[in-house]
Amino acid sequence: MQTFESFGLDARILRALSDQGYTTPTPIQAQAIPVVLLGKDVMGAAQTGTGKTAGFALPIIQRLLPLANGSASPARHPVRALMLTPTRELADQVYDNVARYAKHTDLRSTVVFGGVDMNPQTDALRRGVEILVATPGRLLDHVQQKSVNLSQVQMLVLDEADRMLDMGFLPDLQRIINLLPAQRQTLLFSATFSAEIKRLAASYLKQPVTIEVARSNSTAENVRQMVYQVEDGHKQAAVVHLLKQRAEQGLSRQCIVFVNSKIGCSRLARHLEREGINAAAIHGDKTQTERMQTLDGFKSGTIDALVATDVAARGLDIPDMPCVVNFDVPYSAEDYVHRIGRTGRAGASGDALSIYVPGNDERLLSDIEKLIKRSIPRGKLEGFDPTGERARQGDTERRRERGDVRRTRGNGEGEERPRRHEHAGSRQVFRPSDDPFFSRPYEPSANSAQIKASEEVAAALSRGRQAPKRPVAALLGGVPRKS
Ligand code: AMP
Repeated sequence: MQTFESFGLDARILRALSDQGYTTPTPIQAQAIPVVLLGKDVMGAAQTGTGKTAGFALPIIQRLLPLANGSASPARHPVRALMLTPTRELADQVYDNVARYAKHTDLRSTVVFGGVDMNPQTDALRRGVEILVATPGRLLDHVQQKSVNLSQVQMLVLDEADRMLDMGFLPDLQRIINLLPAQRQTLLFSATFSAEIKRLAASYLKQPVTIEVARSNSTAENVRQMVYQVEDGHKQAAVVHLLKQRAEQGLSRQCIVFVNSKIGCSRLARHLEREGINAAAIHGDKTQTERMQTLDGFKSGTIDALVATDVAARGLDIPDMPCVVNFDVPYSAEDYVHRIGRTGRAGASGDALSIYVPGNDERLLSDIEKLIKRSIPRGKLEGFDPTGERARQGDTERRRERGDVRRTRGNGEGEERPRRHEHAGSRQVFRPSDDPFFSRPYEPSANSAQIKASEEVAAALSRGRQAPKRPVAALLGGVPRKS
């Protein structure tokens, strides 16, 4: 069996790995580390959860070690390795890993991403760092402010490159890469190798070694995929049913529920909460602090259902997800691969359950099936009563037995919250418009500066910056930048 020692890594790195409790390299590490150590360019097909971060970070640290020094002079600590990621969360995670792996060395690292104050980032950059993790927009802000110089970068990592392209970061990437020395090592990681990714690689990589831990665009064998047909207007009830059914079957309550829009994301989380499921929304309108708190709550188990948009969920390091639910079928088939890649990691088994509405969703499903080269079984939602009547009665009784029937907030009288569709006729079909929550205007939780920044991005886009393939996605997780 391969060991980290066999790569010839420095004792200080090995000590950090042993601090982390890593004993054996993961398959992507086993393939990537020797190649990166040789200075070759790499095109790696690997998702978050495979250990790809250490796959590129460890050999980069090793290669930079001869340049590590304890000098206080910023000039002795130029940026030598630049790691670009699409989202703040991923940037933060990559940085966290790098800092852990390099902690016994003199190499300095920091992270810069949007949505937070620039000043502390500027201070860290001015003090000098060898390894910089960044999201593209915020990095360009720092370049503009001259708080960072990229002329000595020897190694560039494009992490989750497919997502960066999806989010419309190509022009930013091009601007950044043009600031780097042509003589450098470039590592590109992507969950899928689309034609666009291949074009990007052809432009910026030199004779890259291709590393794949799984067939590209494949989905793990140990993930049980299933799709359920539901009528329009019954999707929320169907998700509640699925989650409660899992809980009743003694399966883990934890799951990520993917939603295509921010507004839908908040609504669904609220709906699940009202149905007695501990849920929280994570999307691009949430502040960084809110996102981190939600993620912590999910990791500690106080939140069972993490309701997320694709962009917000990208790169989140959530190990061992037992279940992924697609409340909406994703518009892009590749997003489906990303989404369900959150379950069934490291050989664990997982469920990937999707709800679809006849019509447009069927076309999206067939695109997915073409991409993953298999058909997804159609399942039946056993016992699903879309009017909610039967399920609700049973559920209320069960909760009453447990003594945790939800009280109406604020009235202090201990009555259960009335539901319009409950007393408006037993056969009435639940529709979102029946629920007062849905007729209220959406109130994003982001602070006004963030909203303004998003609006500026939107304005810049409409003024002719290259429109991303999915502008909405760019606004969800894109890093706000001054136009
Ligand atoms: P990544 O795909 O880089 O986001 O890594 C996924 C998770 O696996 C992270 O929590 C890492 O800390 C962890 N990890 C990475 N490499 C190893 C290893 N060789 N042994 C055990 N855990 C690892």
